[in-house]
Amino acid sequence: MAPRLLAWYDRHRRTLPWRALPGQRADPYHVWLSEIMLQQTTVAAVDAYYRRFLARWPTVGDLAAAPLDDVLHAWAGLGYYARARNLHKCAQAVVERHDGRFPDSEAALLALPGIGTYTAAAIAAIAFDRKATPVDGNVERVVARLFAIDTPLPAAKQELRIAAARLTPEGRPGDFAQASMDLGATVCTPRSPLCMVCPLAEGCAARAAGIAAALPRRTAKAARPRRLGVAFWIVRADGAVLLRRRVEKGLLGGMTEVPSSPWQEDGGALPEAAAHAPLDPGGWRSLPGLVRHVFTHFELELTVLAAEVPAGTPAPGGTFWVPIDRLVEHALPSVMKKVVRHALAGRDGA
Ligand code: SF4
Repeated sequence: MAPRLLAWYDRHRRTLPWRALPGQRADPYHVWLSEIMLQQTTVAAVDAYYRRFLARWPTVGDLAAAPLDDVLHAWAGLGYYARARNLHKCAQAVVERHDGRFPDSEAALLALPGIGTYTAAAIAAIAFDRKATPVDGNVERVVARLFAIDTPLPAAKQELRIAAARLTPEGRPGDFAQASMDLGATVCTPRSPLCMVCPLAEGCAARAAGIAAALPRRTAKAARPRRLGVAFWIVRADGAVLLRRRVEKGLLGGMTEVPSSPWQEDGGALPEAAAHAPLDPGGWRSLPGLVRHVFTHFELELTVLAAEVPAGTPAPGGTFWVPIDRLVEHALPSVMKKVVRHALAGRDGA
């Protein structure tokens, strides 16, 4: 199958900003940056971020030398902030341990922060043409169909990985990896695979059995739990807003937030939640409506309590005042941008 897929790739490969032109070797920094950004999001969503990062930090050394806050700020909106922190750590590790050059083996790549099995294989194959098989969702789908593997995901992952590795050729493994991804993205698509134009149609077991669109099967997901919390929008008389930096570890670690109560399935009554406010302004106003945000493992609903405090009120420990018109300079995650918009709308509508 490999020769047919490679011949198809030579004619139909996608043009992507991080992809080397035919015959050229990809830059490992470009491959790594794009692969980290692309995890769990789309090419369209990543494009502008990728170009911005590269314009600002043209080499891995430039990224390593950047302040973490600048990197988090530039990442804001892509989600999964642990990834941005690991991105920065990884850039520093490449500079410190490898003299600013990415190592070319899967094993050495795996030892770097934030690089898992998939990313190590993708960099080894695409940037260094090593025989490695990165298996993303697209490749899982293609392989499940080619061999009509009907074990549901995620249990099928290992089986699909082994089958994909068997297909990988000795020659041009990097192009083969990208060809498999492209085939999954453009021909062997989730709902309506275009088997009529597929270079692998002959020999595809799912197509022969007429079950292509039903594969890969998946174990039904449990519904996301809902968590509740309260965000505290505290404005000083001179127009500054109270913000806080979240602890480094955990969800949205290191990002700036509008202070909030713990996010829990039992969010508790408002007076109890208000006890978590960084200061007691002596009078809260509950803004109408809720701020809703969907994280990977839960959905969040935040009530926003607003209050004004006199000019000169000091910021309690761990918090700081920021003029409203300078909020954009801070690395606010998407959920907190929603809180800010909600609070400003509440203020304007008050
Ligand atoms: Fe996918 Fe159809 Fe090609 Fe099989 S023949 S790999 S199902 S597009």
